Amino acid sequence: MTEQTPAIFALFGNPVGHSLSPPMHNAAYKKMGINASYESYCVEDLQDAITRIRGRPLEGVSVTIPFKTAVIPYLDEIEDDARAIGAVNTILHHDKGRLRGYNTDWMGVVRGLEEYLEIPGKTFAILGAGGAARAAVFGILQKGGIPLILNRTAARGEELARAFGCPSYPLSEIGAIRADCLINTTPVGMAPEQETSPIAKKALVNFRWVMDCIYNPLKTQLLQDAAGAGCTPINGVGMFVHQGAEQIKIWTGKEPPREFMRQVVLEKLGAQDGD
Ligand code: NAP
Repeated sequence: MTEQTPAIFALFGNPVGHSLSPPMHNAAYKKMGINASYESYCVEDLQDAITRIRGRPLEGVSVTIPFKTAVIPYLDEIEDDARAIGAVNTILHHDKGRLRGYNTDWMGVVRGLEEYLEIPGKTFAILGAGGAARAAVFGILQKGGIPLILNRTAARGEELARAFGCPSYPLSEIGAIRADCLINTTPVGMAPEQETSPIAKKALVNFRWVMDCIYNPLKTQLLQDAAGAGCTPINGVGMFVHQGAEQIKIWTGKEPPREFMRQVVLEKLGAQDGD
């Protein structure tokens, strides 16, 4: 990319209106002195949207719900981590005109956790078995942690557990599970249904740290209950900032200003002191 020609990046998802990726990315490029713009697109036809990248000067695309798995067949190359996870959240349109898929969600989970704890040897109870859960299991195993899966649909949890060689239980058995850290990867508690929590308060006494992948609201019901039960709450902002920062590194080869990006996100979320 040259300073004369702005680099163009995009977010593909549906819906995308709520996403904080555009303000976070655009603020980061400005701070880094990179002439670039990042826009969101609400995609109806994924195949058509991917075909259009090839004819345009789009250098990178973030992929979000519901396309992280569906996008894989349309790409030319898939990086090993993304293949193992079975989901792509980042596309690089590289020099040779080819589209390469990456997954940075697992790095987001790992770096978000590492702000609070050391992963090796610790046990992690993961609620959910979708894309975020797959990224969490992969990342925790990469760093020497011990994951177990709890999912509402037991068969889906078992499928994920088989893929990564770890145990799984129906979510209804949460009361009998003890681990160092609980990670919520379900959407339960997300705005506008922020009064809901994926598990009962009393189950939280079995964990020291509780991470929620949700970042809006910042203090989910689960994290409020966790603080009340004496656990250390970890919101989803760290994961969000680090997965985005890793995308910027893939696209520009430069280290982005992660703390600055976090402040931009917190400001958008209307964080109060102490959040
Ligand atoms: P997904 O693939 O749709 O998976 C959702 C999982 O949640 C499934 O296992 C589903 O269980 C479970 N679930 C859904 N509703 C539930 C309910 N009412 N009770 C119990 N379990 C329920 O979604 P995803 O892509 O993994 O995303 C999940 C969450 O992570 C979203 O809130 C997303 O915003 C968040 N996320 C955050 C970041 C970040 O950067 N902070 C990044 C990625 C994702 P079944 O199998 O039984 O349907």
